[in-house]
Amino acid sequence: MNDSKYIYLDNAATTPMDPRVIEEVNKHFKETYGNTSSLHSVGQKAGQVLLKSREIIASLINAHRDDIFFTSSGTEADNMAIFGVVSRNKKRGNHIITTSIEHHAVENPYKESEKTGIEVTFLPVDKYGLIEIKDLENAITDKTILISIMFANNEIGTIEPIKEIGAIAKKHDIIFHTDAVQAFGKVPIDVNEMNIDLLSASAHKLYGPKGVGMLYIRNKGVREGWGKFMDPLMYGGGHERDMRPSTVNVPGIAGFAKAVELAKEEMEEESLRHIKLRDKIIKWVTENIEDTYLNGHPTQRLPNNVNLGFKYIEGESIVLDLDMEGIATSTGSACSSKTLDPSHVLLAIGLKPEEAHGSLRVSLGRFTTDEDIDYFLEKLPPIIERLRKMSPLKKGVKYMFNNKEHK
Ligand SMILES: *Cc1c(COP(=O)(O)O)cnc(C)c1O
Repeated sequence: MNDSKYIYLDNAATTPMDPRVIEEVNKHFKETYGNTSSLHSVGQKAGQVLLKSREIIASLINAHRDDIFFTSSGTEADNMAIFGVVSRNKKRGNHIITTSIEHHAVENPYKESEKTGIEVTFLPVDKYGLIEIKDLENAITDKTILISIMFANNEIGTIEPIKEIGAIAKKHDIIFHTDAVQAFGKVPIDVNEMNIDLLSASAHKLYGPKGVGMLYIRNKGVREGWGKFMDPLMYGGGHERDMRPSTVNVPGIAGFAKAVELAKEEMEEESLRHIKLRDKIIKWVTENIEDTYLNGHPTQRLPNNVNLGFKYIEGESIVLDLDMEGIATSTGSACSSKTLDPSHVLLAIGLKPEEAHGSLRVSLGRFTTDEDIDYFLEKLPPIIERLRKMSPLKKGVKYMFNNKEHK
């Protein structure tokens, strides 16, 4: 990736596969082609790889291996959690609590559920993107069946107080789902300590293959006092203990497990390295380019996420100009950046629509180097200056950049 001149700073949208993961997936494409349900030895061998992968992935979040259910993506895991709980617990209640800054893979299933009589409370967030524990407690009713709050936000990187949320959910005996797609493999997660009942993750956000995800389901979906607490989305053969039928993608899952193994080994060091680079970008840009600010929390944020606001200009223009310089960035969520609507996340933290349009997300990855960041910080200021000169919002104003060393 980096031997060509292209600098990839959009790792929150997806990551390139780690070469060690590619090697593992290729090996299993060749060797492990059996159906895990088959009785013969080729199938049994695939079953062994699946079991081992389940164990590795479970161990990253202190889960039991039998509570890991593989899916085709993070989106599928989110949908499975939401519609699965809603379908099973109609008699118990029709109220769900989530936030106003969820990924579309959570937000849109809730909007869909509202059409069928489900009541959804979208909790507000403060200017950093954090929910208030008091708001959560106040929103709970005796009809609440699910609390669903993302672990870390994909646009602004803010990490929610998951342990406190889990404690509230436990106290009120409500199921707690967290979309951990951005956080999984980036920050420590313990489903027991944090009282998480359902957790979504996706391999392609941590240097694994696309099209592989998982849902952690506590006690395989059985809860004391509730009995079975969720239904499957699909019905078919018996794969994944009837929760997610269809022939299992063993090579992809083995790649997911390899990615998790690498994350376990390298997370601590990698996050320290990312935090240094992240904070260097934030400090340099906010000190050296006028009328810029950080979106999201200054410290309680993902190690690899930077989200900057630039007044008077459009994030899309910055992204396109950076791309011409061989640098990939984003305006926010990859899924919403094709529409002209301002990001619901940036509006939720209190930005005006015109401010929300002027945001740039820079997400670091395993293959990001110090030199990449220096190059980015060299190319960015003239782009901002040029776009602002053309900006109808602030015509004729000269922007000063002091050329301080940014080391
Ligand atoms: C990427 C992402 C998803 C969707 O995962 P896919 O595997 O791409 O379907 C869901 N939630 C969050 C927070 C994400 O960042």
